[in-house]
Amino acid sequence: MIHRPAGIVIGGDLHLGLEFITSEGVVEEVRPHTGLPEPWFASPAFVNAHSHLEYRGMQGQLKETDFFEWIGAIVRAKGEQTPEQVQADSLLAAQENRATGVALIAEHSDRPGSRAAMDSVGLEGPIFQEVITFLDPAGRQERLAHVAEKARLQAATPSPHATYSVDKHSLTELSQGEAFLSTHAAESPAETELFSHGTGPFAELLESHNSALPQAGQTPIEYLNRIGFLKPGRQLVHCCDATEQDIELMAAKGVVAAHCPRSNQALTCTPAPIRRILEAGIPVGLGLDSAASSGQISMFAEMRSAFRASCSRREPITYSQIWQMATEMGAASLGRDNWSIQAGSTAPIIRISGVDAIDVEDLIESCSPENVSWLDTA
Ligand SMILES: [Zn+2]
Repeated sequence: MIHRPAGIVIGGDLHLGLEFITSEGVVEEVRPHTGLPEPWFASPAFVNAHSHLEYRGMQGQLKETDFFEWIGAIVRAKGEQTPEQVQADSLLAAQENRATGVALIAEHSDRPGSRAAMDSVGLEGPIFQEVITFLDPAGRQERLAHVAEKARLQAATPSPHATYSVDKHSLTELSQGEAFLSTHAAESPAETELFSHGTGPFAELLESHNSALPQAGQTPIEYLNRIGFLKPGRQLVHCCDATEQDIELMAAKGVVAAHCPRSNQALTCTPAPIRRILEAGIPVGLGLDSAASSGQISMFAEMRSAFRASCSRREPITYSQIWQMATEMGAASLGRDNWSIQAGSTAPIIRISGVDAIDVEDLIESCSPENVSWLDTA
């Protein structure tokens, strides 16, 4: 089957004048045009490197802009939802991921529903069943068993929700072994304050439940290192407050990162130092996080935000780097190589149409999910 788009995104750059041949889902050849091109562009499918499908129903509902207050609001809102709502919201979010060109996601899940939703629309990827024990460390064994049972039901892996929400013993236990795990880390000023000074809203919450505070004088990422969490096959989500030393540590330990700029902006977190993280050689995937904080499920909106966030730090990244985070680098961060359009590659491929473009900047700045459809590569 010959595909003759106006251009193909390869390695994060739009190459005009190329066509390609596929057979049974495999790219057999990429070559110069042998006929008149059609007005669309081809790209390997998008990868959503950090997702919470279950919060789709809360899109536009939570007005809190402070991270700690927002977390409290989402916990209260979850208490109002039925299991049927969770499943319906997960399904809608999965459908919208497909509609914006996503084929692979890394999903954080608390309540069951993610795997069924992903399977029903053909979304692949790991599910991290969130472990949260911080307000009940005495009951942690029971909670871990409960999470393990939820994980079993949807082929997920128990994984720590965040640096601050799992007690030290459970986090140490979870860190052992070689499983691919993901945790929120260095996301908010409140989290950084807890680990650096032992003060702030998280410290007050822990003290009010007679839970132990972490030792002061460290960053959240240094804490994860002391616990033994940092190793290949570990994903740190957000890294907004990562210091130079944290980034060196992440690179040395072989972890990967997920970048969710719209969520960070909505919750008044620091724009993540993504250029420095990329320069350190750390694979980064772009993540849509939850619709409750990021808004519409749109990879294009997320990519635009990634560019703006890097500019606001005065450490701009390129549109090419952003496209790579949204496709092949995101896939590589999840252990999937060869997420490309080249001879032998098997990544699902999207068509982007209804737009004039000579480079990926044009695609990122002018597209929305309505421009995306799926290419038949049979
Ligand atoms: Zn998240």
